[in-house]
Amino acid sequence: MSKKTCPLNREQLEALTERFPTPFHIYDEAAIRANARVLKAAFAWNPGFKEYFAVKAAPNPYLMKILKTEGFGSDCSSYPELLLAESVGLSGDEIIFTSNDTPANEYVEAVDLGAIINLDDISHIDYLEHCAGIPTLVCFRYNPGALKGGNEIIGHPEEAKYGFTREQLFEGYRILRDKGVKRFGLHTMVASNELDAKYFIETAHILFDLVAELSVELDIRFEFVNIGGGIGIPYKPEEVPVDLAAVGEGIRKLYEEKIEQAELSPLDVRMECGRMITGPYGWLVSRVLHKKNTYKQFVGLDSCMTDLMRPALYGAYHHITVAGKEGTPHDVVCDVTGSLCENNDKFAVDRALPEMEIGDLVVIHDTGAHGHAMGFNYNAKLRSAELLLRENGAIVSIRRAETVEDYFSTLDFAGLAAFKA
Ligand SMILES: *Cc1c(COP(=O)(O)O)cnc(C)c1O
Repeated sequence: MSKKTCPLNREQLEALTERFPTPFHIYDEAAIRANARVLKAAFAWNPGFKEYFAVKAAPNPYLMKILKTEGFGSDCSSYPELLLAESVGLSGDEIIFTSNDTPANEYVEAVDLGAIINLDDISHIDYLEHCAGIPTLVCFRYNPGALKGGNEIIGHPEEAKYGFTREQLFEGYRILRDKGVKRFGLHTMVASNELDAKYFIETAHILFDLVAELSVELDIRFEFVNIGGGIGIPYKPEEVPVDLAAVGEGIRKLYEEKIEQAELSPLDVRMECGRMITGPYGWLVSRVLHKKNTYKQFVGLDSCMTDLMRPALYGAYHHITVAGKEGTPHDVVCDVTGSLCENNDKFAVDRALPEMEIGDLVVIHDTGAHGHAMGFNYNAKLRSAELLLRENGAIVSIRRAETVEDYFSTLDFAGLAAFKA
């Protein structure tokens, strides 16, 4: 019925749960690699093209290490994310530090690693200079304001807390130039889960025009533009993935017209996608724990929104299949719930699914990005394991499930015994 598939069938999943109890997220290495190659091929015309995987989407060093072998760097936004990048051997301009409201120690770590610093605000030039010094290469994040239409998750650019205004870009690059900085980048990130290829071509258009204007006005040379992340994925079976080749080709045409003809090349095109890199290649696998009939039908799983927050947070659609029942009629309309004491803890509302039995394995699709990563511990829920299906078919653990000891590890029970309430 559904064209969304999981690389493991019911028997394979059942066997797997003997080694790793549900719930867990499982990722498909071969599919992640194949997709990475499609993205690289789309930009093969730009020799300096680089994708910096947005670590926040799936902050697991095993996945980052796979992506590193595909030539991807990391886009980090916090101290621990920088440490993860370092742990897989990334350094220097393989890392871009795109943060906002940044604490000093994070700039210090990023500069120590030689990462590309992408400043979110003009006031951070001074801040960076005082805490870590100004590196030789600096990038600014541009907020195009009303120039660019909004998007549901990220909102309207004018309302967004991120980035420099156009005027501040001119002023900021002038300040850096006058301080002796010679290497520059320009960044923007204005979309999230956007499925329209034209949106990304338009973003490149805005950045190419700006690079041309800034280069002439300030007599500086740009090494790269970073068009951000935000490429969407088809969460719904009827949605169509972004045609990456069309994005690459659209940007190539603009590059010829705006960059080559103005003798501004070479200019590297860079991206920092997270969702489209791993999102479709991860699944949350869970078991039916209870069925309940009241004013509605509910199917309760052994996972909850602490394993996958997107449906509760944004009302986001995640496709659900029942292992072994992919082909049976989807004629039971139900809510698929977790066990959190929050009524919005639902993976699906009024979803037509096959009749389920207690113990059935339920597969929630497209959890490879912003899935486990957004997990949390509310209601003292323990975070699930992450597994990896290797290219050779082996399945390995890349993060064990959290234990009660992990959860309590920040509490001092000896101190509690001595504490007089
Ligand atoms: C979240 C984020 C990304 C990645 O976004 P995706 O939608 O996962 O591609 C990239 N850059 C910045 C600055 C972000 O905040």
